[in-house]
Amino acid sequence: MSFTHSSPCRSPCLSPCHRPKYAHDEHDRPPRDIGNLIYTDLQPFNLTGAPETKLFLSYVADISSDYVRATFDRSSKILDFHQPEQLEEVLDLDIPKHPLPIDQLLTDCKDALKYQVKTGHPRFMNQLSCGIEVVSLAGEWITAAANTNMFTYEIAPVFILMEQVVMKHMRKFIGYTHGDSTMAPGGSISNLYAALGARHTMFPEYKQKGLRALPGELVIFTSCQSHYSMKGAACAMGLGIDNCIEVPCDDKWKMIPSELDRLIEDAKGKGKIPFFVCATAGTTVMGAFDPLNAIADVCEKHKLWFHVDAAWGGGVLLSKSLRYKMAGVERSDSITWNPHKLMGVTLQCSGVHFKKDGILIECNQMSADYLFQQDKPYDVNYDTGDKVIQCGRHNDIFKLWLLWRSKGDEGFEKHMDYLWGLTEYMVKKLKEHPDKFELLNEDPECTNVCFWYIPHRLRTMKQGTERRKILGDVQPILKGRMMTAGSFMIGYQPLDPHPNFFRNIISSQAVKKEDIDFMVEELDRLGYDL
Ligand SMILES: *Cc1c(COP(=O)(O)O)cnc(C)c1O
Repeated sequence: MSFTHSSPCRSPCLSPCHRPKYAHDEHDRPPRDIGNLIYTDLQPFNLTGAPETKLFLSYVADISSDYVRATFDRSSKILDFHQPEQLEEVLDLDIPKHPLPIDQLLTDCKDALKYQVKTGHPRFMNQLSCGIEVVSLAGEWITAAANTNMFTYEIAPVFILMEQVVMKHMRKFIGYTHGDSTMAPGGSISNLYAALGARHTMFPEYKQKGLRALPGELVIFTSCQSHYSMKGAACAMGLGIDNCIEVPCDDKWKMIPSELDRLIEDAKGKGKIPFFVCATAGTTVMGAFDPLNAIADVCEKHKLWFHVDAAWGGGVLLSKSLRYKMAGVERSDSITWNPHKLMGVTLQCSGVHFKKDGILIECNQMSADYLFQQDKPYDVNYDTGDKVIQCGRHNDIFKLWLLWRSKGDEGFEKHMDYLWGLTEYMVKKLKEHPDKFELLNEDPECTNVCFWYIPHRLRTMKQGTERRKILGDVQPILKGRMMTAGSFMIGYQPLDPHPNFFRNIISSQAVKKEDIDFMVEELDRLGYDL
């Protein structure tokens, strides 16, 4: 795509040759000092305020860029931790009666970032969405400037086409030859869309008649390691948590297909109606991949909808050497995939993909006359807003499209292989110090590395419940110390039957081996005496 104009300019565009005289003068005038101005001195309130408006925005862009620079500076702290009461004291958050000057607004912008956690810092490994890709950030800036709504082609023509191209490209990686997709506000909502689509396919009358259309209680099956949003979907859909059945996992935290089969039979025996199975590709805590082919077999046997929640692990599809982890994904009916996790797109960026076209629109269409008129001067199939349970939709596509353009498929493959390489390095590093670290997953499938740090006094203590309990107690204290130090950040949680342990996530392109080395040393520095 190219926006450069070739001369001579023949169209009545606003290139310099056609720009009205006053606007030309306005652009050339040096801006006034803007510090004491207020919002009414800027556009659109002030018709001649273009130079000041541009200057204001460039100051804000500078603040944003300075923050990015600090984010990538390993000598800068990740956070300057304050308790909520302290933070309320140092920040002026009140809404004033009268307008504040521009200078104050610029200070407000800086202050908002001053106490913010630098989630793109190379030593922030706390979350599944870490890191900041500057191309994606640039996309987010442009998205905000375009400020459009994704519901109709009428007002978002370029972005709608982009979305179609990128979604189709993703479906190709999944292995769907046709199908349909939508972007959604997060993986949890994407999972909900999948379950709604499945119910609609099985019971199309539900849309009109509601619960009356169902011959009994519908049941969802998902692994005991799956994301809690599946339970949330069961609640939101009127099934109830009791009808979201957790299938046991093996010692690698993967769903056991024979248990799935048994539980489906069991539910049928109780007169319930199984309709939806969710397999997880990259579980949230341990990063396990469920055996998709074996689960697909069970779904085929019972004629159930097969959904894959790859919100976290979906990125492996982009790498030839990693995609075997999701072998069988092409047999699924739907899949959730969050580019804001492994692919490093700025929050938020998530989507759900369906093997069969037409389900989203059939299930969710309400045909509002004021928005989705059928007699528009273009093919109304491009009005994607009626496919979703939202009305307006945020533009989440531009930043993903731009990032993918910058890397190409090849760049994303390298991106994934790099993250897995670093994960291997980290495991190797922890294994070099068996006295200080105990790994929960010795051979992680995703980039989740789960381990306990062992303080000095516990290193000679004999294994057993007492030692386990103390281990579980000291990890949160160590987390507190790392937040106070601000030098690195990783998350912890318990996972039945295990007490609290750390879960390190490598999901940022900024991380290097030296950061892993640093973390290993820093854990020991901060936790040795616990
Ligand atoms: C993160 C995650 C989700 C939820 O995604 P959000 O975008 O946070 O709503 C769902 N499933 C899995 C497996 C996840 O890791």
